[in-house]
Amino acid sequence: MESNRTAGTTIAIHDDAIACSETLMNAQRTLRRPISCAGIGLHSGRKVTLSLKPAPADSGIRFRRSDLGGLEVPATVKHVGGINYATGLTRDAVKVDTVEHLLAALVSLGIDNVVVELNSPEVPIMDGSASPFVYLIHEAGVRQLSAPRRYLKVQRPLSLSRGDKSIAIYPSDQFRVTYTIAFDHPLLQHQSMTLPINEAAFIEEIAPARTFTFLKEVEMLRQQGLALGGSLENAIVVGDTGVLNNALRFDDEFVRHKILDSIGDMALLGHPIIGHLVAHRGGHGLHTAFAAQVLQERDAWTLVEGPAPKDVAAAVAAAAPAPAN
Ligand SMILES: [Zn+2]
Repeated sequence: MESNRTAGTTIAIHDDAIACSETLMNAQRTLRRPISCAGIGLHSGRKVTLSLKPAPADSGIRFRRSDLGGLEVPATVKHVGGINYATGLTRDAVKVDTVEHLLAALVSLGIDNVVVELNSPEVPIMDGSASPFVYLIHEAGVRQLSAPRRYLKVQRPLSLSRGDKSIAIYPSDQFRVTYTIAFDHPLLQHQSMTLPINEAAFIEEIAPARTFTFLKEVEMLRQQGLALGGSLENAIVVGDTGVLNNALRFDDEFVRHKILDSIGDMALLGHPIIGHLVAHRGGHGLHTAFAAQVLQERDAWTLVEGPAPKDVAAAVAAAAPAPAN
């Protein structure tokens, strides 16, 4: 285990240097150690074990199917497939569904690089929110990597409309989301929220918000082979006169969950965003189509590097043992 001890020493040096340097807030991050949990897929109803594993700089977020010999699909717009009440990724024979809540937690907690290993095609729904994934990431711990993070900084507005649904992004000095929902239901006629999305705001205001569905749609979903794992334990179910669950976590939990979904879907850009996302009555199809459009409109944004963590690189180089060759 010599190599592990060496790696541990290197990490400790990183941490010391980080304490001395604010610029390292802009370094890429991964997890400190692997961590796992078990649950069921919301739509498939299948049991699944989820493991989050540290990954090197510039490798991004990658989903790996251990039940398919370790085949991987990167969490990028290019691999979006199967939008059906959830966001799915596909590459060749590999398919992973319902990635959005986990992706929202990873990007909001600044995890740039991680391998997400699953032994089934769907990410576990847990309690329908992103809070269990926040807990997992905190338990695993965060490790800074000696490579700068690159942000996607919006330079001019972009927008996409489909009927009465719309989504746009505007230049801003930070990542903000404004979301408005309007359903033909007395509880949900209008909810709107604007929030700057940083780690603390995500954890407090957005992560706990659960996915929701309408009671009248549950049977239709099941006939389509969807929501087979759904229950009051992992989704808010809205009946004609109120929610079937005991209580909401926020009065406006619904719009907060839409913000959560949009953060997870926009994570497929592959870079944290500096810009103001504004969506009205969106869904996974609109979010992911817009993410693809943003990537195509190459003159509408620039990649801005966080300052290079020079002092960490220097500290590591000075302390590292000479190569044994
Ligand atoms: Zn959702």
